[in-house]
Amino acid sequence: MTERRTKIVATIGPASEDPSTLGRLVAAGMNMARLSLAHGPLEETLERIRRVRAAAEDANANVGILADLPGPKVRAAPFPERGVYFVEGAETELVAATGARTDASDWQRIAVDLPSLVSDVQVGDRVALGDGGIQFTVEAIRGERLAARVLTGGNVRGRPGVTFPSSRFTAPTPTPEDLRLLEAVIAAGVEAVAVSFVRSAADIDAVRAAAGADPPMLVAKIETQSAVDALDEVIAAADAVMVARGDLGIRCALEDVPHYQKRIIHATVAYGRPVITATQMLESMVQSPAPTRAEVSDVANAVFDGTSALMLSGETAIGHDPANAVRTMARIATRAEREFDYLGWGLALGRQQVAETRGAPAKVRITAAISAAAWRAAADAEATAIIACTNSGATARAISRFRPTVPVLAATPSLRTARQLSVAWGITPMLVEPRQSTDDIVWFAIQAAVQHGFVKTDDVVAILAGAPDEPVPTTDVLRLVRIR
Ligand code: PEP
Repeated sequence: MTERRTKIVATIGPASEDPSTLGRLVAAGMNMARLSLAHGPLEETLERIRRVRAAAEDANANVGILADLPGPKVRAAPFPERGVYFVEGAETELVAATGARTDASDWQRIAVDLPSLVSDVQVGDRVALGDGGIQFTVEAIRGERLAARVLTGGNVRGRPGVTFPSSRFTAPTPTPEDLRLLEAVIAAGVEAVAVSFVRSAADIDAVRAAAGADPPMLVAKIETQSAVDALDEVIAAADAVMVARGDLGIRCALEDVPHYQKRIIHATVAYGRPVITATQMLESMVQSPAPTRAEVSDVANAVFDGTSALMLSGETAIGHDPANAVRTMARIATRAEREFDYLGWGLALGRQQVAETRGAPAKVRITAAISAAAWRAAADAEATAIIACTNSGATARAISRFRPTVPVLAATPSLRTARQLSVAWGITPMLVEPRQSTDDIVWFAIQAAVQHGFVKTDDVVAILAGAPDEPVPTTDVLRLVRIR
């Protein structure tokens, strides 16, 4: 069990897909691997899934896999491997990509994955590349080409997103391509799927409806103003949330991003869902061995905001030292956690969560009330650990929201639940055999915690469990046990 409670999600890409680098990422503390389906062929993702599984198994580590659906994002055809630099004031042109594998972009000509480019874009439009740092103004339409001037320059590589004025470009999500990819990654056994460009709860509902009887954990990426405006209903429809600051910063005013981040984190934790803070966290480490002071502060502040997990994108996907980026993030998070006012957080949330669950189904109200009781009892009894016996992970997530200072062990018979909990704050999953009675569930979970060395004789543990044979299994038992 590591000291760090905030989880780390690392994006796997060309710089990290080889087995030895994956092994180093696991050793450095990667809790969940993110595979972006926007950047390469499906086969590449499926191979990366196999390799992440193998690396986690070799290290006997619990690593979840998050497949990130592309959504209706328009992308440019690949730029050269070493990247190109757009100089402010220079002229360039945009053309519609042909769809052939040979499509490519460079500084003179950007091939855009939008067949209707020339008819959709107007003279005077602003077009942004990547996370929005590089911007162009469209100056003229010449046949099948748009003449553009570089407004703000910078370096670009890979297949960056291309953003047009959102008032005229609001494609629905999920796209037919998203649904095709969803089926393939579910078949490959991923435990979590991120839904891009969510606008309302209906977008998450549509993915859930397409995901079959046993859907993976659905992560709503908050990266549009509509999703921010419909935040509560989006959180309620999803299983987890991502503050996707890259696209959010293009679609909303940049200065809104830190405030939205705080609001999204607070609302998501109050609902008992994990929340991932993403994008440009240690961006300079794509090239450099050490982060900037501003990046270190940004990571620490996300921890102070209460995020469940921190995400690395380019730093691990195309960066020069992916394992170093994970180690650096782990160090910053661990240090920030030492300053966190956990008691104040739990007390404030205790009051709020009563309001959040008022009128919710009985199962939700019972889980919320009993997890609050477990958090308080563990503190009063100076417990060494809290053990949440859980099938779906809901009990562990409910207790995690209080940010208990003691370790929280999630005893679960489900490997999938264990991997999904790899993104939940402060939870250490522990695989156990399924049991037939509440007494057995409690007894064998304690035994497993002792065997793993998490607790020892004379320790007090607070343990949450439910009756396995109820039609809707609900966690309704809290015991304080002194281990003998
Ligand atoms: C983001 O926009 O911050 C994000 C995580 O989305 P993606 O990297 O998939 O564009």
